[in-house]
Amino acid sequence: MRVTWADGLLTFRLDLEDQITGKASDEYPVKLATNSCTITDVPDDAHPDLFAVAAWTVVAPWTRKRITFDRAVSARFAQVLHDGWGVEAGPVGAEPRAAGGTLAISYSGGADSVAAAAIYPDAPFVHFRRVPHPRVPNRWPHYRSDVLARLAQQTGRPLTTVRSDLEYTLAEPRPGYPEHHAVAAGALLNADRLDLGGLGFGYEIGSRWLGGGRYLHRYTPDNPMWAPHGKWGRLFAAVGVHIVLPVGGVSEAVTMRLALESELAGQVRWCLSGAADGPCRTCAKCLYKELIQAAVERRPLDTPLTAGHPRARKWLRPPPYGGQEMVEYGLARIPGIERTLFAGALDYFDATEESTSWLEHCYPPALAEIPEPWRERATSFMTAEVGLMTEKEIHRVETWGSTG
Ligand SMILES: [Zn+2]
Repeated sequence: MRVTWADGLLTFRLDLEDQITGKASDEYPVKLATNSCTITDVPDDAHPDLFAVAAWTVVAPWTRKRITFDRAVSARFAQVLHDGWGVEAGPVGAEPRAAGGTLAISYSGGADSVAAAAIYPDAPFVHFRRVPHPRVPNRWPHYRSDVLARLAQQTGRPLTTVRSDLEYTLAEPRPGYPEHHAVAAGALLNADRLDLGGLGFGYEIGSRWLGGGRYLHRYTPDNPMWAPHGKWGRLFAAVGVHIVLPVGGVSEAVTMRLALESELAGQVRWCLSGAADGPCRTCAKCLYKELIQAAVERRPLDTPLTAGHPRARKWLRPPPYGGQEMVEYGLARIPGIERTLFAGALDYFDATEESTSWLEHCYPPALAEIPEPWRERATSFMTAEVGLMTEKEIHRVETWGSTG
């Protein structure tokens, strides 16, 4: 793989051994659409290791043996890349980057990143905004990145919005981040300007510890994407931008509650296709988040979707599902759930308020892995606002997917 970066344009050329099909770090199969993308609103002279990590978030799935950058990287970066992926990086010759002192939040505007932001009221935001790619047809015209960017602006926090078409480098399964970490490309390139030492993400306990998202239902202490000792955690640390998961110890029920109680509640928006006046209420994300919100607010489900809708089909299939812990939580708490499109899922679970109450507390090892400069704040916040898990509840986390 050969990578160049000039005037906001990232271009990469595959070597003979590289392939246009690959797997993201969560093992999900992905396919390349095109070999260039732009990242704007970033300085031209970022530390070469920052540029290299930003580029790696886009090209990692396609690279087999080596990657050659258009500028020298540090020996430390090359070593960590090799340790994690078995890929040779070069040329080598730069001094490593020293970590800065600031924690920024990678801010999407969804409940999870709003909850992360609520823990650090002074942290600046970096927002990734999707823009169309000049050479790839836009198959997602309903995606309202303009609405999300405007809501981010309305938070009043110091905000850096980075515009990029990098998601269109992915042909399959759909436009999106080649690696989950590509959302951070703009933050990485701005890390010197913002003096970043850490970047906070809204990944919660499901994503960090319960194998959530695209890989399912197992306890994942060595999560390759988000554990500090995982390959991505080590790579970010090598360039002085530690991955920080402020809400990594709590469930989406907790992040939902914290977000709706926070001063940013008016700007919370998890729906990618809703218009300026509100979420669409019918996409898969809206339905899933409504399940969680109704459970948190202990009220009946409020959705226009019925059991006959195609969106309901997923809930007629047996588990496992991504986010299964939250499905169990919702089934146990929503009044009248047996009269909704989730009725079919009731057959698969035996969830009760007692059996799901561990999802209302914080898993302490998640606090222990927050880097020292920001750990105390998260620990005191979680202790005061959420409460820490008991030994029995910790056991529930650590046996997730292996029992029942
Ligand atoms: Zn929606």
